[in-house]
Amino acid sequence: MALITPFDPWHSKLCTCPPKLTFNPYTGCDHKCLYCYATSYIPKFYTCRPKKDLIPKLKKEAAKLNGEILSIANSSDPYPNQEAEKGLTRKCLEILTQSNCKVQIITKSNLVTRDTDLLKKMRSTVSLTITTDNDETAKIIEPHAPSSTARLKTAESLIAHGILTSIRIDPIIPFLNDNPQQLIKTLATIGIKHITASTYKIKPDNWQRLTKALPKTTEKLKPLYFEKGEKISRYIYLPKDLRFKLMKTIRTTADNHGIKFGTCREDLSHMNTATCDGSWLLSTPT
Ligand code: SF4
Repeated sequence: MALITPFDPWHSKLCTCPPKLTFNPYTGCDHKCLYCYATSYIPKFYTCRPKKDLIPKLKKEAAKLNGEILSIANSSDPYPNQEAEKGLTRKCLEILTQSNCKVQIITKSNLVTRDTDLLKKMRSTVSLTITTDNDETAKIIEPHAPSSTARLKTAESLIAHGILTSIRIDPIIPFLNDNPQQLIKTLATIGIKHITASTYKIKPDNWQRLTKALPKTTEKLKPLYFEKGEKISRYIYLPKDLRFKLMKTIRTTADNHGIKFGTCREDLSHMNTATCDGSWLLSTPT
């Protein structure tokens, strides 16, 4: 089985990403986010393990790249906690500096700053997820990921190193982190030029975890999702008018700060002011 594969090979109507390739250095992830979607389709997801034959496979497949965007990673974080010791993602980036591709890193970890030397050697961008600027909330919903404060410092450091950086505010959960105006203001101060936002979608297992950790919040969420919400694919979404309202607030705040905006899988792509995933940054001068 190939390591590098097309991103969204099913051409989902909800996905507005440009054509790109993807691979995951690890299977599973040890950040243990409660809302994680990948736990529903990857067995033993929170037991993070390196991909089998990762380095030899990547060496072989990277040699065939021909200028594509390579997104690392979409079903796991390329910087799980064990990456600090294993350094596999770093080894992958070393290989990719010798190949013809543009790299998009998607992560929640401050460990990405360790690899700025390699990211600077190629056309690259980092999409850093900062779900909330409240450390206590982040600790509950993303228990083993770096704190929000650490991630904000990471964004600052990446920008200072000249790395093209966008921020994912994802997922937006009503009554929990649905008011990110202050966060966006802070991001503007740091020099962030793109934000991608997306609302929380229910899968049975992520709902169970959220309910256990946040019973009062999920009680308030129940009617929104289970009475007024809509089933799209195998997820339960918030009602479309509420999704629009939440995205509108973020878009307006982003507009006011000169930040480009994209929605992710919301069926609201008309609201985007740039390529949804922030990959347009790869075409800007550094
Ligand atoms: S960082 Fe991403 S892949 Fe890892 S547990 Fe959190 S949501 Fe899932």
